[in-house]
Amino acid sequence: MLGWFGLGRNDHGREERRSRENLARQARARLLKKIGAFLLDHDLEVTQANLATAHSAFAGLNPGLERRIRRQLECGERISQSWLDRAIAVEMPVADDAVDQLAQQLEAGISHFSRSTRSARDANSDYGNALAEHVDALDATPDTNDVIASLADYARAMLERSRKAEEELRMAEDEAASLRRNLDRARRDAEVDFLTGLPNRRAFEALLEKEYREAQATVEQLCVAFCDIDLFKQVNDTHGHDAGDRVICVVADLLRAISGEKCHIARHGGEEFVLLMRGCGPKEALTRLDTEREALASRKLVNRRTKEPFGLITFSGGVADVFAYPDTRSALAAADEALYEAKQSGRDRIVLARPSA
Ligand code: GH3
Ligand code: MG
Ligand code: MG
Repeated sequence: MLGWFGLGRNDHGREERRSRENLARQARARLLKKIGAFLLDHDLEVTQANLATAHSAFAGLNPGLERRIRRQLECGERISQSWLDRAIAVEMPVADDAVDQLAQQLEAGISHFSRSTRSARDANSDYGNALAEHVDALDATPDTNDVIASLADYARAMLERSRKAEEELRMAEDEAASLRRNLDRARRDAEVDFLTGLPNRRAFEALLEKEYREAQATVEQLCVAFCDIDLFKQVNDTHGHDAGDRVICVVADLLRAISGEKCHIARHGGEEFVLLMRGCGPKEALTRLDTEREALASRKLVNRRTKEPFGLITFSGGVADVFAYPDTRSALAAADEALYEAKQSGRDRIVLARPSA
């Protein structure tokens, strides 16, 4: 049957589908072209990792990474493999759920193991005590005949085995306790940045979610901030990577000084730190951070190995009021944007993110 404009309903639907498919194909072709051009223009190897990175940035799966790449290009900087690796380390979501699950399973296993060994040891110990009484009773039996004597011997042998099993179970319990201690230590290590001793990004993300829920429940204010050392590449280039590491530690210690029960700081990666401040509005958060910024800018740091001054070491920061955004991720992105603004407007300053109305 013919419909309006001479096209049947089926023809019309087919036409629409074809045009949708065409558009999708064009979008895929554009994406492929973009990925290919990105790898070729920056002389990056065609590896699985690089393809996945370029895909996540250009397919809109990782807006943070895309923004970082855009900024680097806007500054006329080259995208090297090491730059890209660092950008991924900072921008890729921390996907440690599998590790968490494994650790939980291991912990449950250890608990189950120590519970069963303890109850087996208790049962064995009760059995051993009963057996010991039995042996005593048999030994005390007057006119002990051969049968009674050999029964007493069997009972004694069983008692010995039971005591041995008890000792082995006790050792298994100790082993379970030591496994648990190791697991706790591994968990703590997985959350600490080895250079500065600060919590790492993974720990921070978990903490932020917890503080977010609590601040929501108690109707408290919550701010997040990013701080990034200014022109840090020059420090590395002039004084070497080890000296650069020491400068990162100096800034970490400075920021650590404002941390407390309601203010947490973590190393987000490289020369970048992230903070959360609970019970503190955006203006106060900015002031607190600005005080630390001034404190650093007024210090005269010296490379203790060469005795050469480092020159001015400063950092820039971006602050965002978490509850002005739909979720923590958007608030972090806003703080990151504010940090970018601070860099663009001359560095050594803290900028407050302005939520769009
Ligand atoms: P900006 O003011 O725009 O932040 O400039 P920048 O030079 O600080 O920024 P850029 O991102 O270009 O360089 C950061 C450098 O930090 C590059 C990288 O080699 C270095 N870096 C990253 N992690 C570490 C680290 O753990 N130790 C040392 N010493 N350097 C690091
Ligand atoms: Mg920097
Ligand atoms: Mg940086």
